[in-house]
Amino acid sequence: MSSVAAKNLPDAQGHFGPYGGRFVPETLVHPLQELENEYRRAQKDPVFKREFKYYLKEFCGRPTPLYFAERLTKELGGPKIYLKREDLLHTGAHKINNCIGQILLAKRMGKTRIIAETGAGQHGVATATVAAMFGMKCVVYMGAVDCQRQELNVYRMKMLGAEVVSVKAGQQTLKEAINEAMRDWVTNVRTTHYILGTVYGAHPYPEMVRNFQRVIGDEARRQILEKEKRLPDLLIACVGGGSNSMGLFYPFLDDQSVKMVGVEAGGLGIKPNQHAARFHGGSLGVLQGTRSYILQDEYGQIQLTHSVSAGLDYAAVGPEHAWLHDQKRVEYTYIKDDAALAAFMKLARLEGIIPALESAHAIAEVMKRAPKLGEDKLIIVNLSGRGDKDVSQVAAKIKL
Ligand SMILES: *Cc1c(COP(=O)(O)O)cnc(C)c1O
Repeated sequence: MSSVAAKNLPDAQGHFGPYGGRFVPETLVHPLQELENEYRRAQKDPVFKREFKYYLKEFCGRPTPLYFAERLTKELGGPKIYLKREDLLHTGAHKINNCIGQILLAKRMGKTRIIAETGAGQHGVATATVAAMFGMKCVVYMGAVDCQRQELNVYRMKMLGAEVVSVKAGQQTLKEAINEAMRDWVTNVRTTHYILGTVYGAHPYPEMVRNFQRVIGDEARRQILEKEKRLPDLLIACVGGGSNSMGLFYPFLDDQSVKMVGVEAGGLGIKPNQHAARFHGGSLGVLQGTRSYILQDEYGQIQLTHSVSAGLDYAAVGPEHAWLHDQKRVEYTYIKDDAALAAFMKLARLEGIIPALESAHAIAEVMKRAPKLGEDKLIIVNLSGRGDKDVSQVAAKIKL
């Protein structure tokens, strides 16, 4: 594979090889083009770049530390392990990086209303937060089942002034929430910007969200060169839609010596409806605006998914990941619920850091790999978020 090509994708139509693209109703073609045009202008505009940097620093708390996990390193007896601390950001995860970028774009386009979809509510909270900060109206679509499971986040969004629409169609989870958000966007596109939460959906979202999240990898690269005077040997991140991992991986794609591992949710095991490991049972399909690996049955019906972590629990994966998978530039593996829970407790007790259950999947993968690697190696793990949101769920599973 040519690594230069890896960083130059997508093409003008938003394709990453056979993946990506823009599979939307005709009414959304123009708004997506408008968004892309504004995004291209913004990318070249020093004012936009300055604003983006300003809010990431002053509002979100960037740069986040690249923290040497000394006790975890000792315990595993292998390479030096560094944690990229996205958990320390305002609202508790990497999602706010993308929300800042998109709301600044919305402001440039003269939009006054923001909509978003959310599963566990983390992206909804991040979106409601930036909407409050910029004084914009905000509507968040969330499946009715998720609203029940994540009551606290629903209340959080309402505190921040957002309207939360409970979606009762289908399985009443994330997929249906995205459908409703798309419907709203079609109807209100003149006033409304849709802040999509990951590297998914129709072009330009996968490229745009990756570029807003690449600040993670850009910082990590600078920080590791400063601390260790060399590049890492291995990057590990969890993969839901794929934004925190793309953000970390992207700036290293040209560095052939840097190996990358994406960790999907293995749930209860790789059987239909019991996991969300799209690269272990998924196949080529089109869902919600893009072409990628999708968990579907033989008739193209989207399968149910399961994961202990709501943020990894989705039937499709970002198209750039699909392409990196096929190129073998990134290796994709999965971690099951029980191993993620064990890693959750391990990090809390060894490092005094309670990770998000999503990020605990990446930690679990480190625990598997590190003992087999030499002490001269360097690993960076993306700690995509903090685990406060998961405490009650873990308490229900593990008695202390
Ligand atoms: C949403 C979320 C994820 C999964 O989303 P990606 O787009 O794959 O990053 C991972 N970690 C945390 C903490 C999240 O909130």
